[in-house]
Amino acid sequence: MSIAVIGGGIAGVAAAHELARSGERATVFHQHAGASALYSGALDFEVWDRVSALSVVDPALAEFSSALGIWELGSAAPRVATFEGNVRPARGRDRALLDLERCAGKRVAVIDLDRDDWDGPLLAKSFAGSAWAVDTHTKFEAVRVRGLQHNFERRTSVYDFAAAHDLPERFAFLLAALRASNAAPDAWLCGPWLGVERAVAAELSASLGVPVGETTSAPGGAAGARFESARDRLLSRVAAVERARVLRITANAGAFRVEVEPGDARDFSAVVLATGGVTAGGVALERSFERRGGAGFRLSFAAPVAIELGGEVTEGVSSLSSIDFVERGLGALLEVGVAVGEDGAARGAPGLFVAGDARAGRPRTALVAAQAGLSAAQRALAHVRRTE
Ligand SMILES: Cc1cc2nc3c(=O)[nH]c(=O)nc-3n(C[C@H](O)[C@H](O)[C@H](O)COP(=O)(O)OP(=O)(O)OC[C@H]3O[C@@H](n4cnc5c(N)ncnc54)[C@H](O)[C@@H]3O)c2cc1C
Repeated sequence: MSIAVIGGGIAGVAAAHELARSGERATVFHQHAGASALYSGALDFEVWDRVSALSVVDPALAEFSSALGIWELGSAAPRVATFEGNVRPARGRDRALLDLERCAGKRVAVIDLDRDDWDGPLLAKSFAGSAWAVDTHTKFEAVRVRGLQHNFERRTSVYDFAAAHDLPERFAFLLAALRASNAAPDAWLCGPWLGVERAVAAELSASLGVPVGETTSAPGGAAGARFESARDRLLSRVAAVERARVLRITANAGAFRVEVEPGDARDFSAVVLATGGVTAGGVALERSFERRGGAGFRLSFAAPVAIELGGEVTEGVSSLSSIDFVERGLGALLEVGVAVGEDGAARGAPGLFVAGDARAGRPRTALVAAQAGLSAAQRALAHVRRTE
């Protein structure tokens, strides 16, 4: 039995982990960063402003979350502060993010330092004015902290600033600066700067005796970098990993041939396709030369699957249909994906199971992607056991 997982985002890693749990070592192909490397660190099942009841977390999803080692998916839903100044609910979080539910009714210090992308006083005011802060009588106050060691740190990328705090001396500098502020808040809220490899937020919390955590990350920030690092650690234990671009998947006599660059073509009994949507480049938007002036979606590699938008299969793999964004809105970019049948397999390609943002019409969220990866893996295993 051999199963290929294509994609190293949340859905692909969840699939590889689930296969390993059933004793199967998958081959994972992935290349560039996808949406998972850009995400905010908040974990949702649905768009957060539509969150209604607390969704139940399936045991397999809880097990994947703990294997990944950076997520908290407890029984109580957290509330997080965003980098843009909102306070919002989530279903889970990257552990480095401060859980505001634990700070309800208390005093939260918002770190105030001279980074060009951070305005502590303005953010504190915005958090304090949120409906949640008003309802729970939670105070947010900016507290001046000499947290920059060098002048250039004002402008270094948020990733570099976060990664710097993995170094023991830089961690000690930030800890000393928080202590020297002489503030005694019930919690510290920092920007998304608290390490990539090391659990800096947990270590600062233990040293100061109060919760210390981050806001969400902007695209390309610390949360995505921590996901990639945790992904690499987990995949190295559970799967054979190839950093290669998939060029073509062909179905032949019940098997799938996967052609990659660089590398040789390989045959697999089943495939989990977790190549993401438009953000990851798994689905491409291209100008159509067949219909002058039009633009259409296509898969960015060759595979025996069809692209669907708004419940309508647009066309076959190679041709482009004309998409009118005025009529459909930019939401089409988040909706378009591979057409999938009721069994989770790509329509017309039994044995090729689609997961995460690659699937048409599913919410583009971290927990939906993880759940879809787990279920695609289970379906791929069942398919192989049935057919071999
Ligand atoms: C800016 C931003 C903010 C977000 N914020 C949140 C949030 O607050 N809460 C939340 O729950 N969700 C959020 N999301 C959504 C969430 O991150 C995604 O739904 C989820 O990460 C999708 O995971 P995925 O594995 O399906 O796809 P991706 O992470 O996109 O992974 C696709 C993978 O496929 C690989 N791939 C593609 N084509 C090929 C090929 N030809 N060959 C080899 N490999 C290939 C890529 O290398 C990549 O590894 C956010 C997304 C973005 C972009």
